[in-house]
Amino acid sequence: MEALRVSQISTSMIRRMFEIVERAKREGKDIVSLTIGEPDFDTDEIIINKACEAMKNGFTHYTSNFGLEDLREAIASKYDLDANNVMITAGGSEALLNASLAFIERGSKVVIPSPSFLSYFTYAKLCEAKTIQILTHENGFEVDVERLNEIVDRDVSMIFLNYPNNPTGVVMGEKDLKAIVEIAEDVNAIVLSDEIYDSIFYDKRPATLAGYENTIVVNGFSKSLAMTGWRMGYVVANDELMDSMLKVHQVNGVCAPAFAQKAVADIIAEGKDKEIVQKMVEEFRKRRDFVYNRLKSKFDVVKPEGAFYFFVKVNENCMDFVERALGKGVALTPGLPFGEGNEEYVRISYATSMENLEKAMDRLEEL
Ligand code: PLP
Repeated sequence: MEALRVSQISTSMIRRMFEIVERAKREGKDIVSLTIGEPDFDTDEIIINKACEAMKNGFTHYTSNFGLEDLREAIASKYDLDANNVMITAGGSEALLNASLAFIERGSKVVIPSPSFLSYFTYAKLCEAKTIQILTHENGFEVDVERLNEIVDRDVSMIFLNYPNNPTGVVMGEKDLKAIVEIAEDVNAIVLSDEIYDSIFYDKRPATLAGYENTIVVNGFSKSLAMTGWRMGYVVANDELMDSMLKVHQVNGVCAPAFAQKAVADIIAEGKDKEIVQKMVEEFRKRRDFVYNRLKSKFDVVKPEGAFYFFVKVNENCMDFVERALGKGVALTPGLPFGEGNEEYVRISYATSMENLEKAMDRLEEL
């Protein structure tokens, strides 16, 4: 018998989308997919070679639950913090679950801006919390701080933030983010700042909330180093918060793959990580500019400052639009699962080749 906390989680939307795309493929349609949630680049060969070397050198065992010391130190120096404030996890997702299970009290309120990365809703459900959505559509997809202040009370256990944002690409400014941290502090809530796209930005550098007392930063290498399959994430938090998350991590992810940790530690030590990210971001920038120029005359669209997504208002039910786009040979992600108020939005991912994007934009124009 399925537990109540799981029965509240729906997979029907994902299943339906999968079925629609599979049916189109079965019918032999040439489909360009703009649904991809990861860089289309393969992991750089330098990292692969480092990982092979690490495996041959015995990095095939458990590491400490906290992760390899070299890697923790390298990450801590990015934030000007101590290695004790960093714990390596099996991807950003494990870090998010650890933080949720450690701090979202059953029956408490969890504030999630809409639109948001859909997993946040799942974490809140798993923890049997009430979700309070704060709609951001009228505010350029940024959280309205005054509005947040009005809805937050002592029942709030956690506020999720994610900038650069999936699915909008928006980057919120440091002043407003700090104001949110203060609002959370007043009611003893935790701000979970998911900064997984922090290296993928264009003109506006994203701020970090690492170092604040009531803040947990989740980050990782899935997106920045195109390593989604390696499961390399981390959390940054103070000692007290870390201790609670360790209680979950020790039975959940346990540790990230040892050879993957060693490979990342080595390439950071050699300063190669920045080169890898830069190369990728330059390519993403070209694609973002191309897609923006094609979309802006037809749709109401916010120019993304980071990540690799557009969240586009299509002025009709998103499921209908997605089906029509598929009829033209373009797969898109409907807005619905990203929270309330997204019925008329679709997500476009530009983590695909320029050739595919050109083809997809031509096809969408026919709609
Ligand atoms: N956070 C956001 C906002 C994401 O978009 C994703 C992946 O799509 C994740 C976290 C999960 O990252 P990981 O693959 O490291 O678990």
